[in-house]
Amino acid sequence: MHDLVITSRRAVLPEGEGPAAVAVRDGRITGVFDADAAPEAAERVDLGDVALLPGLVDSHVHVNEPGRTHWEGFACATRAAAAGGVTTIVDMPLNSLPPTVEVSALEVKRAAAAGRCAVDVAFWGGAVPGNREELRALHEAGVRGFKCFLSPSGVDEFPPLDAAELRAVMTEIASFDGLLIVHAEDPELLADPAGPGYAEFLGSRPGESERRAVERVIALARETGVRAHILHVSSALCLEPLAEARREGVRITAETCPHYLTLAAEEVPEGATQFKCCPPIRGEANRDELWRGLAAGVLDCVVSDHSPSTPDLKVPDFAAAWGGISSLQLGLSAVWTEASRRGYGLGDVVRWMAEAPAALAGLDGKGSIAVGNDADLVAFDPGAAQTVDAAALHHRNPVTPYHGRTLTGVVRTTWLRGRAVRDGAPRGALL
Ligand SMILES: [Zn+2]
Repeated sequence: MHDLVITSRRAVLPEGEGPAAVAVRDGRITGVFDADAAPEAAERVDLGDVALLPGLVDSHVHVNEPGRTHWEGFACATRAAAAGGVTTIVDMPLNSLPPTVEVSALEVKRAAAAGRCAVDVAFWGGAVPGNREELRALHEAGVRGFKCFLSPSGVDEFPPLDAAELRAVMTEIASFDGLLIVHAEDPELLADPAGPGYAEFLGSRPGESERRAVERVIALARETGVRAHILHVSSALCLEPLAEARREGVRITAETCPHYLTLAAEEVPEGATQFKCCPPIRGEANRDELWRGLAAGVLDCVVSDHSPSTPDLKVPDFAAAWGGISSLQLGLSAVWTEASRRGYGLGDVVRWMAEAPAALAGLDGKGSIAVGNDADLVAFDPGAAQTVDAAALHHRNPVTPYHGRTLTGVVRTTWLRGRAVRDGAPRGALL
């Protein structure tokens, strides 16, 4: 006898999309059956034409607790995640205080998260100047990999690595076969914006700075053999070096974000710094190229880079405002809106937003509907529409560039290990 059986005419399985019945017992997927052969269960849910997806894995979330909990915290971030169909987040090591650059800081963060999370949470560590000796211990303590910057991060307590430190860190991480994830902008090609407008901000962070940083990371990944990942690719100039490195067998992957795929520089309103992030949202032609990079498999993952702040830091001056976009609850609908318009299917979205991020972070048992996996599932109505009201989101601060937009696709129910997530009940585990 199963605890739960969910049937859908549009179940998105690794082998394709179609009718299926997914059975769950003790929090795990115990069987995937033909829709008309659904087994007995204590609870049966028939979704009809509403799609059944695996819970998404968002490997790029800045929760900010402890230390900047007024920007975002574990309770509200994970409630937003669940409402957006995300059943696992991987928390970034910076913006919280202390940053996750030593084991004691990881313990502080775990203590802050414990008992508060509506979905599962895993953690990235950080690689900063002077903490190389800590990396192996952090790896053994369970971080999924290490984030570093090559340019200033936006917060003083998380400084960037210079060229020599980057090589040394990569060598160290390679020694235990860990993963380095890189914010790749070359500081030599970044400038202070020449004015408060979006054009000046965009001009201060050219795509060439991303490309040059990506080329440096590739060269060092080739040299050290470390597994490396490029965070939030915004410029299509990165695609060619990434594709070439992959062909050559360099162990490198890359992600992009919903905002780079769905928004464009041409449409950023005057002073609308809810659109500010680093690297920046670029032009429409660049956005089309990013979609081609995804289709070609040069970009592996689509993850939110949810990086909120309080509204007062989003002053209407692109040179001065906090750089970070808040979208954890909206990523699936935003990406689906644009993906469906461009002829992609739910299977593509699941590959980019669930399977690939789970693989990146080494989260076995997550990211796909397969027997033995955790029963993290989402009922997603792909034809329904919603108009975004920032104030109605679970994010702590009602600031998002998607406010007022009509998105296609609505999350109806999210199950974490076979139980529907309701009212933010803190049943999430720390992974
Ligand atoms: Zn980030």
